[in-house]
Amino acid sequence: MTIDPDTCSCSTPWPRLTAVIEQREYTVTPAAEHSPASALHLARCALCGAPYTAPWKRIREDPNQLVPTAL
Ligand SMILES: [Zn+2]
Repeated sequence: MTIDPDTCSCSTPWPRLTAVIEQREYTVTPAAEHSPASALHLARCALCGAPYTAPWKRIREDPNQLVPTAL
């Protein structure tokens, strides 16, 4: 798991990651390697909006990924 806390300004770095894929927001999690989705799309911190450039993957088990998150 690669996390760079320098770009997230939250008190707990990267409390939650989200990625917008095809106009839907998904909750994602850090991953060991880039996936096709992470290569094409940018994940961000859900709280401060900092771009997360390390590899990530979607959380398929998360039922919330099907519903756009109201922030
Ligand atoms: Zn943050």
